[in-house]
Amino acid sequence: MESTALTCPDCGGVLTEHASGTQHSVRKYTCYLGHAYSPYVLNETTETEVGQALWGAVRRLEEQVMFSRRLAGEILSDAMAGFAGELKRKAELAERHAAIIRGLLERSAAQAREAKEDAVTAADQRAA
Ligand SMILES: [Zn+2]
Repeated sequence: MESTALTCPDCGGVLTEHASGTQHSVRKYTCYLGHAYSPYVLNETTETEVGQALWGAVRRLEEQVMFSRRLAGEILSDAMAGFAGELKRKAELAERHAAIIRGLLERSAAQAREAKEDAVTAADQRAA
């Protein structure tokens, strides 16, 4: 039984690794509250959460783009021109960051689809 740097997907508590033997299938992770995960499920859950967090970041950045541009567009006084420029620069930066994260997520999804197709093709070839 060994503490890890991993956190429980359900409650955020520290996960402890329990190993009996050297096979992945007999290793498990539990938190103080008793939530338990196999390595495979823990890995899948982490992948899903990272995807949700990154898509959430894309959504928030795109909201910031729209809101900053709207605010900048509403500034009519010359005295506030500097602030309007700052809002526009922030919108451009947020737009670039959203595009980078979106591109990463889309490439990752395409690679996952290709890997799945390759696995199916390999299984079909073994069955033939
Ligand atoms: Zn937990």
